[in-house]
Amino acid sequence: MIAVAIDGPAGAGKSTIAKKASEELGFIYVDTGALYRAVALACIDGNISIDDTPAVEKLLPGLDIRIIFFNGEQHILLNDNDVSERIREENVSMAASRVSAIPSVRGYLLDLQRDFAKRDNVIMDGRDIGTVVLPNAQVKIFLTASPEVRARRRVLQLEEKGMEADFDKILFDIVQRDYNDTNRKTAPLKPAENAVTVDTTVLTLDEVIEKIVSIIKEQTA
Ligand code: C5P
Repeated sequence: MIAVAIDGPAGAGKSTIAKKASEELGFIYVDTGALYRAVALACIDGNISIDDTPAVEKLLPGLDIRIIFFNGEQHILLNDNDVSERIREENVSMAASRVSAIPSVRGYLLDLQRDFAKRDNVIMDGRDIGTVVLPNAQVKIFLTASPEVRARRRVLQLEEKGMEADFDKILFDIVQRDYNDTNRKTAPLKPAENAVTVDTTVLTLDEVIEKIVSIIKEQTA
């Protein structure tokens, strides 16, 4: 099996790029952020404060989080409900960043993530894929871009979906999430030792995809 880990901060374009690259290479794409988002949504729906770690931990055994692939798209099911759209809301993004700092939440999602890489060739994106989830991945990429460019891309993404987008608020949230993800004690966001860092600040989407696909081909040849 071949495993490709793509890590990096919020809004670096990981999901768009990993999705396209996996289509080109015929790999399964796994968006691990969706799993943390599903846990966060379960807390919100259950009126559980994310600061209340024991309450979050009590919730975990009762959760049924599954990723299914339907028409080539990843869908996320939370207790049999398709929550793929709801987990993208901004309040869920921030809650996911906070809930992901709880070590038992990370432990709970670990096997689920590793199972994908046992069954198929995968491109998995997240924050700790190359460092913790798949430390033996054949290819490790750290994708990054300036916070302003990442916020601008997020605004465009939301506007394309007809959703409202406030640049300043999105930039503030991105910087806050970077801080949370980089400074947490368990599995902080950082490049794996042998990761190739790709800064996408001045690259177009097509240029990044070309670059990533060529790195993967080169390193798995
Ligand atoms: O990638 P995405 O923005 O959907 O991730 C949501 C949140 O989940 C991130 O801010 C991060 O805190 C957390 N996450 C993580 N480890 C991963 C994937 C996501 O901690 N592998």
